[in-house]
Amino acid sequence: MSNSQRAIVIGGSLAGLWTARVLADHFAQVTVLERDSLPSEPASRPGVPQDRHVHVLLERGADIMSQLFPGITEELLAAGANRVDLTKDSRAKIRGQWLPQFESKIVTYACSRLMLEAILRRRVAALPNVALCAGAQVQGLVANNGVVEGVQVRWKDGRADGVETAAFIVDASGRGSKLPEWLPQIGYDTPEETVIDVRLGYAGRRYHIPNPPPAWDMMLVGADPPHNSRAGLIYSEENNIWMVMVAGILGDYPPTDEEGFLAFAREVDADFHAAIRKAEPVSNIIGYRRTENRFRRYDRLTRWPERLVALGDAVCGFNPVYGQGMTVSAMAAVELGNMLTASGGNLVGLAHAFQKKYPKIVEPAWLLATSADLEWLGNAEATSLPERFAGWYMPKVLDAIPHDRLVHRTFIEMQNLIVPPTTLFKPAIVLRVLGHWLRGR
Ligand SMILES: Cc1cc2nc3c(=O)[nH]c(=O)nc-3n(C[C@H](O)[C@H](O)[C@H](O)COP(=O)(O)OP(=O)(O)OC[C@H]3O[C@@H](n4cnc5c(N)ncnc54)[C@H](O)[C@@H]3O)c2cc1C
Repeated sequence: MSNSQRAIVIGGSLAGLWTARVLADHFAQVTVLERDSLPSEPASRPGVPQDRHVHVLLERGADIMSQLFPGITEELLAAGANRVDLTKDSRAKIRGQWLPQFESKIVTYACSRLMLEAILRRRVAALPNVALCAGAQVQGLVANNGVVEGVQVRWKDGRADGVETAAFIVDASGRGSKLPEWLPQIGYDTPEETVIDVRLGYAGRRYHIPNPPPAWDMMLVGADPPHNSRAGLIYSEENNIWMVMVAGILGDYPPTDEEGFLAFAREVDADFHAAIRKAEPVSNIIGYRRTENRFRRYDRLTRWPERLVALGDAVCGFNPVYGQGMTVSAMAAVELGNMLTASGGNLVGLAHAFQKKYPKIVEPAWLLATSADLEWLGNAEATSLPERFAGWYMPKVLDAIPHDRLVHRTFIEMQNLIVPPTTLFKPAIVLRVLGHWLRGR
C-alpha cells in the first residue's frame, strides 16, 4: 500500500467495482459513492438501465476478473453460469454465412449481468478497507488550487448534504457522467467528444430453454451489410434461461410488442426465429437505444486537476453489440493500479498522465467497434487515418472468416482483446484476407 489516505469512487457499477478492488491495494480506505440503493441479490437498478440486457464478458475481462478476484469463475459456475467456448459451443452466422464450429478454448462465463454484478459487489463489499455507500448522489467536485479534494454529496436517506473529502477521486459514473459539467465549475475546460452513432437499438426478452435443449449454448447472427441491418443473439444464462436479443441498425429499432418482436426475429434469420419459437417466454420485451460510441477526449485537455481521474463508460462508451464495455473498464482499472504502483505513492501528475494514456487503453476496442460501424455509415465519418484504414480492411477480414480458420481464430482473439488489432495485419493474415477478397472480385 503506497498511500495512507482515502480514495473515493463515484459509481458502483462494473467500472466502479473493478476500480474499488484495485484502489484497495493502494489506499487505506476506499469509499464507493453510488446513487442507487444496492440490492444484496441480483436485481435491476435505475442507475444501470442496461442491466436487464445481455452482457457478454470477453475473455480478457474474465482473465482480469480472475486475477482481481481469485476463484470467482468457480463461484459464477456454482451459481449457474455456463462456460461457453466461443467457437465450439456457439452457432454463429457472419455476413450471411454460418461459421464452422471448432474448439478454441476462448471462453465466456455466460450469466446475467445482474448476477455478475451482484457477485462482484459481494466480493468488493467483503474487502476490509472498502465501503460501498448506497443512496449517495455526487453533485460536484471540491477543488483547491488545482487539486481536487472532495465531492459534494446529496444523501438520499435524508442526511444533510455535505462534502466527502479524499486524497484521490475516480469518476466511474457511466455514460451519464456529469464530469464535463463539473470541470468548468472548478476552472477547467469541457472535453471534446468523438461520437460515432450507427443508431442501433436493442430489444431483449428472456425465455425458458426448451427441453431437450439444442446442441449449442449460444446463437449469434451478425448484421450483414448492406443486405441485412438486423442481428440477434441467444445466450444461455443461469436458471435454465435464454436471454434473446435482437438489434437493428440505422434506426431500424426492434419493436417491443410480441408480434413485432417475433416478426423482427424472423428477419434476423430463419433458424434464429425457429429456435425462439420453441421456447417459452418468461419476461416482457425491453428496448434500449442509447448505444453510440462516445469518447470524451479528456486526454486532449492541456490542463487537468490533480488527484481526479475518470474511467469506464464515463470516458468511453462503445456500441454494445461488440461486448467490450465491462472488459475495457477492467483494463483501465488495472492500468490505474499499475500507475499507482509505479508512482510509489507520489500522486503529483498521475491523474493527468492516466487520462493521457486512456486512448492507448481503449484503442483496440474503439477501432473494432467503430470500423464495423463505419461500414454502415460510410468511411467518410472516420476521424483518423487508422479508423479509415480499419474501416476499409475490417469488412474484408469479416468476409474471409467463414472460409479461413486461422483468420477466424485470430479475429476472435482480437475481438476478445487477447491480442492487439495489429495481429490482423501480420503478413500471414493479410495474405489470406486479401487473397479471399481478390478471388471474390
Ligand atoms: C444495452 C447494453 C448492452 C451492453 N452489453 C455489454 C456486453 O455484452 N459486454 C460488455 O462488456 N459491456 C456491455 N455493455 C456496456 C456495459 O454495460 C458498461 O460498459 C459497464 O457497465 C461499465 O460501465 P460503467 O460502470 O462505466 O457505467 P455504468 O454501468 O453506466 O454505471 C454507472 C454507475 O454510476 C452511478 N452513478 C451515476 N451518476 C452518479 C452520481 N452522480 N453519483 C453517484 N453514482 C452515480 C450509476 O447509478 C451506476 O451505478 C452494454 C451496454 C448497454 C447499454
